[in-house]
Amino acid sequence: MFDPAKASSLDGNFETQLAKIRDEMKQMEQRLERQNLLLQGFFLLMSEHGDISETQLLERVTQLAAEKSKAPAKSCPQCNRSLGKRKQCMYCGGKRPVESAFDLL
Ligand SMILES: [Zn+2]
Repeated sequence: MFDPAKASSLDGNFETQLAKIRDEMKQMEQRLERQNLLLQGFFLLMSEHGDISETQLLERVTQLAAEKSKAPAKSCPQCNRSLGKRKQCMYCGGKRPVESAFDLL
């Protein structure tokens, strides 16, 4: 049977959870903006002290994106099901092997 008091409590809980998720998303956006600034600063230092142009960076990033899109899907080392982009298998908990330092991100 419908209980208005219980429904109201759930609505409040939902609103609280939604506010928490929005707050976490805002924090993640701010963190991404700081990482973007750090990356841009790092690249500017590299280009000033080396012989790397932004055009070369763009070409390299485009090449990497193409290679990633063609790479075969990774499978769980324990149950062989597809991992998708996950670092851990949702079926058995098997972990994706680390093959690059960037896998740690
Ligand atoms: Zn698995």
